[in-house]
Amino acid sequence: MTNILITGTNRGIGLEMAKQALAKGWTVYGSAREEATGPDAHICEHPRFHDLRFDVTGHAALRQAAAGIDAPIDVLINNAGIIGPDRQSVLEMDFDGFAKTLGVNTLAPLAVSQAFLPHLRRSANPRILTVSSWMGSLSHAKSDRIAYRASKAAVNKVMQGLATDLAPMGIAVASLHPGWVRTDMGGAGADIAPVESAAGILKLAENLTLEGTGQFYNWDGSLLAW
Ligand code: NDP
Repeated sequence: MTNILITGTNRGIGLEMAKQALAKGWTVYGSAREEATGPDAHICEHPRFHDLRFDVTGHAALRQAAAGIDAPIDVLINNAGIIGPDRQSVLEMDFDGFAKTLGVNTLAPLAVSQAFLPHLRRSANPRILTVSSWMGSLSHAKSDRIAYRASKAAVNKVMQGLATDLAPMGIAVASLHPGWVRTDMGGAGADIAPVESAAGILKLAENLTLEGTGQFYNWDGSLLAW
């Protein structure tokens, strides 16, 4: 029996991961913001689905949600994310929007990981996977959507550090690119469907071991350059 916690399961890739994890027979702790609509009743009423309500940037609510769970977490997937403000070029930046983007995409995955660390430590095979983006890779000099890119580059560094510090506790940590996916964020013209991306991410989660910790993966399991 695998217990998985996924943030942002009311829509997009997170919702599809929740569906597929339930189909595998796993117990799913899925988080959504208090006011969010979804996931649909089909998921919410599933006996192995636990509908958690917190904003990933709300530290008190996060701690409260963690305190309400008395079970090991085997897999944590930090999935919730935002694309950032409309104005986010290097020469014309919405700084409040930039800060918000860092809050959701960079700080929250660390805060969620910290909040659920006691639950991960109760697992025999604990893993943390953070949904980052190829757009955060420092190997590309591209400058469009720089707030989003910077937030994903930063979360990669945070996860690399977490991998180092959690290895002695037996917890594997990875960042991953989910593909260019047809969601609200990815748009209708993206490369792959949520069903393909989610299947790839869950396979990565199943295969992640301490030997593969501290790496940046593509959704198909191949390694990406930081
Ligand atoms: P969507 O926009 O479809 O879904 C985003 C999810 O994150 C929603 O459930 C949303 O909830 C949740 N979320 C956003 N902000 C918060 C918050 N403050 N607290 C709690 N939940 C929040 O995006 P995708 O499914 O496409 O993206 C999922 C992840 O994949 C993101 O991290 C994204 O950066 C990454 N990614 C996506 C790509 C793509 O092509 N789609 C490409 C590369 C990376 P709500 O409904 O309440 O807003």
